[in-house]
Amino acid sequence: MTYDLTDITTVKKLLARQGFTFNKALGQNFITDPDVCPHIAESCGCTDRDGVLEIGPGAGVLTVELAKRAKRVTAIEVDARLIPVLAQTLEEYRNVQVLLSDVLKTDLGAVLREQFTDCEKLYVCANLPYYITSPVIMYLLKSRLPVENITVMVQKEAAERLCAEPGSREAGAVTAAVRYYAAPEILFKVKNTSFTPAPKVDSEVIRLTPLAAPPIAVADEDFFFETVKAAFSQRRKTAANGLSAGLHMSKEAVFAALEAVGLDKTVRAETLTLAGLAALSDRLIIRRNGK
Ligand code: SAM
Repeated sequence: MTYDLTDITTVKKLLARQGFTFNKALGQNFITDPDVCPHIAESCGCTDRDGVLEIGPGAGVLTVELAKRAKRVTAIEVDARLIPVLAQTLEEYRNVQVLLSDVLKTDLGAVLREQFTDCEKLYVCANLPYYITSPVIMYLLKSRLPVENITVMVQKEAAERLCAEPGSREAGAVTAAVRYYAAPEILFKVKNTSFTPAPKVDSEVIRLTPLAAPPIAVADEDFFFETVKAAFSQRRKTAANGLSAGLHMSKEAVFAALEAVGLDKTVRAETLTLAGLAALSDRLIIRRNGK
């Protein structure tokens, strides 16, 4: 039996049968606009030779669209109440596997290796739970998954930060981190009224295409990310304030590092380029190691 998962009466009936009520804490806003999921699935670019990893299938509205286009779909869902719902809504689709797990506690590399042995290209596609957008994206990127792209829907403000140019007003720590691993782009907007329950703000679908190699070289990758996080940690203050507090280094040591790489001691993190952050991190690590 096939279900119209964009028809809220159908979805509510299916969910009620399992005693399901929407859990805001798990970012449960399901898509009920019939145009959105086909558009997201089409944008990811998967074909019937490929495998797709989905995060947070909910009642399966995007999963179905991916299953129609891909060879295999594996969907990771943390809410056990949705497993029997998905068993029903995805009954027709023999190429879908649902795993009950927290995405942030799952070895995604192992999942891809186990689930997609007979697939050509791999993709990640999801309507992400908004309360963990950045941690999930960083986890996906840091896992260096062998995927063609990561096509995900996130809240508008998060999309703008994730896809900002480093050195621009919208830039944050996650902007630099994304650019280290991927080329980001905003694909299209989705109105808040496309969801049930409707969130307060609109969303955007973004695509992150992993880079073959980072665009800048750094002496120590972990320390580079610590530097970026610290630099952006006190947004209304100078980068030096955040760096000193976040890296537990004296202001003098931070000022000296800034000067050594040709930056003013009053510089703000959002004006720093990726190359500037890399040079700063390389200089700070020398200072921290006392060399
Ligand atoms: N894909 C569905 C849709 O588009 O209608 C649901 C998307 S809803 C925004 C996010 C989904 O992620 C929910 O099903 C929620 O239970 C699930 N989720 C939340 N936290 C998760 C986690 N840590 N790991 C895996 N899934 C999670």
